[in-house]
Amino acid sequence: MDAPVVFTEAEFYQQSFDPQAYLKEYYRMSDSQGGANLFLMQNLRNLHKIFSLDGLRGDTLIDVGCGPTIYQLLSACEHFHEIISLDYTDRNRRELERWLRNEEGAFDWVPVVKYVCELEGDREKWAEKQEKVRKKVKQVLKCDVTKANPTGPVSLPPADCIVSSLCLEGACKDLPTFRSALRNIGTLVKPGGHLVLATVLGETYYAFNKQVFSCLCLEKHEVEAAVEAAGFEVTFSEAQPYAVNDERTDCQGLLGLVARRCPST
Ligand code: SAH
Repeated sequence: MDAPVVFTEAEFYQQSFDPQAYLKEYYRMSDSQGGANLFLMQNLRNLHKIFSLDGLRGDTLIDVGCGPTIYQLLSACEHFHEIISLDYTDRNRRELERWLRNEEGAFDWVPVVKYVCELEGDREKWAEKQEKVRKKVKQVLKCDVTKANPTGPVSLPPADCIVSSLCLEGACKDLPTFRSALRNIGTLVKPGGHLVLATVLGETYYAFNKQVFSCLCLEKHEVEAAVEAAGFEVTFSEAQPYAVNDERTDCQGLLGLVARRCPST
């Protein structure tokens, strides 16, 4: 498989990104052959580690480019009172709301929630955690990370922390766009607040449902430099290789990064 000839940007997501197919393909704990979802487990372990770090707490958390997923909130939700989730596409926001309202046909996150509870030391707390996420997500809004005010015309008060998983590399066609998107989403966090990024490295495409999406091929140092240039100080950055033979993507690694917005910016 090859990356699409023309980079698939936001409008392509709006037209072609099927949230239910995405969830089925990438967010079940094991695949149809019973193989473990190593990518997801690695990502969950990274987020668990990151949200155990000192200082990653506060009143408000904003999830940028949430898609239809909640796994990125499972460790985070213990440390913030209120969460706002943002995504570009109508269908992704609707799919997320369906789960938040516990509606018929919503994706079953229970196996994933149980796994995170196990990481936190008590698998039995899964129902409590699930409810916590449902209660804490107060708003689900449209955003475009390529806009100076990503939530325009709405202006959100800056949050204590923003988290973004697997969004910017899908949304940004080149490094200058990626760097500018980081500056844009940086305005959503208070000076002194934190940015948490989960990003894939060395990936040019990912596929599901017979559709291929572009990915900006990034190296660890490029992500770190872009974060610093957006007015943040990187306090944690850890890359793991993704050595799985996976025909759905050419992903080479996974990066978990934490940065603190410089007080003066
Ligand atoms: N965070 C989820 C979804 C990642 S898929 C996860 O970890 O699985 C990439 C997401 O980026 C999609 O939900 C897509 O709608 C969103 N996206 C693409 N372009 C965007 C843009 N310009 N602004 C905001 N979100 C965008």
